[in-house]
Amino acid sequence: KEFSIDEVLQQLGLKEVNLGSSTGVDNFANGTILESYSPVDGKLIGKVQISTPEDYERVMQTATEAFKSWRLVPAPKRGEIVRQIGEELRQNKENLGRLVSYEMGKSLQEGLGEVQEMIDICDFAVGLSRQLYGLTMHSERPQHRMYEQWHPIGVVGIISAFNFPVAVWSWNTMLAWVCGDVCIWKPSSKTPLCGVACQHIIARVFKTNNIPEGVCNLVIGNTCGDLINNDKRIPLVSFTGSTRIGRHVSQAVATRFGKTILELGGNNAIIVSEHADINMVLVGAVFGAVGTAGQRCTTTRRLIVHEDVYDKTIDILQKAYAQLKIGNPLDASNHVGPLIDQSAVKDYLNAIEKAKLEGGNIIVEGGVLSGEEYESGCYVKPCIIEGENHFEIIQAETFAPILYIMKYKDLEEAIAFQNDVPQGLSSSIFTTNMIEMELFLSQAGSDCGIANVNIGTSGAEIGGAFGGEKETGGGRESGSDAWKVYMRRQTNTINYGTELPLAQGIKFDF
Ligand code: NAD
Repeated sequence: KEFSIDEVLQQLGLKEVNLGSSTGVDNFANGTILESYSPVDGKLIGKVQISTPEDYERVMQTATEAFKSWRLVPAPKRGEIVRQIGEELRQNKENLGRLVSYEMGKSLQEGLGEVQEMIDICDFAVGLSRQLYGLTMHSERPQHRMYEQWHPIGVVGIISAFNFPVAVWSWNTMLAWVCGDVCIWKPSSKTPLCGVACQHIIARVFKTNNIPEGVCNLVIGNTCGDLINNDKRIPLVSFTGSTRIGRHVSQAVATRFGKTILELGGNNAIIVSEHADINMVLVGAVFGAVGTAGQRCTTTRRLIVHEDVYDKTIDILQKAYAQLKIGNPLDASNHVGPLIDQSAVKDYLNAIEKAKLEGGNIIVEGGVLSGEEYESGCYVKPCIIEGENHFEIIQAETFAPILYIMKYKDLEEAIAFQNDVPQGLSSSIFTTNMIEMELFLSQAGSDCGIANVNIGTSGAEIGGAFGGEKETGGGRESGSDAWKVYMRRQTNTINYGTELPLAQGIKFDF
């Protein structure tokens, strides 16, 4: 069936809306217009209104009020709301996936995959809503009991990046909601319609269940980003985006003693050992480097290859790259879609030039595509450049399909290359040698938040905690015990005796 964005917008209930801030079912924004253009064909998809500071204030006040009642709803009942949201997302998977693909530019399969991730985190959060465990401890004092409990933290601010325009929000929100928090979301200004679509889908659930407005909130525009950073009423800000903006957010929130979850840039490497299964490397490295046109935080940016298999690896990569089809991501036969916008294309071209200037050797040529099908000007050729790890350009994250390749002699050297970058998100080794695998995963191995064996760096499952070290920001989201950051921990000591002994044996007689 022919793709029609008008039909998709209609079915998502967005055809007539022109909104930018919302506390659930009531929509209002009074700011200037933000237009959203598709990188797929350069066409205008829709317009939303930017939230003014007054709109923001109204939303914030409603959110603060809603928190007072939402925190009292039993956690499993909050989980039931999230279960219903998961059902709504199942119903809307096809349309939301198409919108994600068209507004962001990733393949339809990946757009649908992103919505699937939202559904998965809903399921995870429903189970979590009956857990949220605290520990009990033995007191040193007689007839005393100690334990800890977790309480909702308050209003959670979520600022998200363009490349996962819906999933990142859901990782945060679904957990925050079962934890008893309310959320205020500022989506990327490059993908505002995805934000508005999610708000519409979930607002129906809140309305049907008579939940007061203000539990799910949306604001649009970068000004709102700074309002969130500086708002003392927001104890936790979850920021996903570049290290540059993340540093600014982190400093602003820390100044007011707020907490942050920072999910920032990556510079992810695959180590290819001489013991690797080369066919597996091919799939892991090529998908990792060119999938989503190199615009994943976990994209493979560096390939560190043992000298014995170096030439062979280059040979198979060159053959694979020659077969890549670049074009409309809604066409399933294409492997690589567009970059998000012209400024990303500029960054891509500048990076290639810089790599050449630093002494890089082109293995697979890059370039911008033009002509029919490429009218948006955002389609580029994935390229491979041989270089040295210390090159300034290799030390930086360029959000585009550029893969740097380098040679190593022994595994210690490879691990040193892998770790010797400012970022610390995802890493991987391809090897069938157990000793190599264990060294890579040991405390002397990868310094990243994610370390994989015989799968690439790209992508992750929701069951594990997701995030990275160093300039990636240190945050963890999604599975495992990442929920704890959305709650405040309270330690309680109860004396059920008739004496009042002090801790550490201190005597205080009078
Ligand atoms: P970006 O930093 O340009 O924008 C991120 C968000 O910050 C957007 O919503 C933007 O509107 C907002 N923003 C801009 N100015 C702000 C301010 N002063 N205060 C608060 N918010 C402000 O990033 P991007 O180009 O959208 O996304 C790409 C980057 O995100 C890459 O570096 C990528 O690695 C990173 N990323 C990281 C993860 C992760 O989990 N580690 C996931 C996805 C993307």
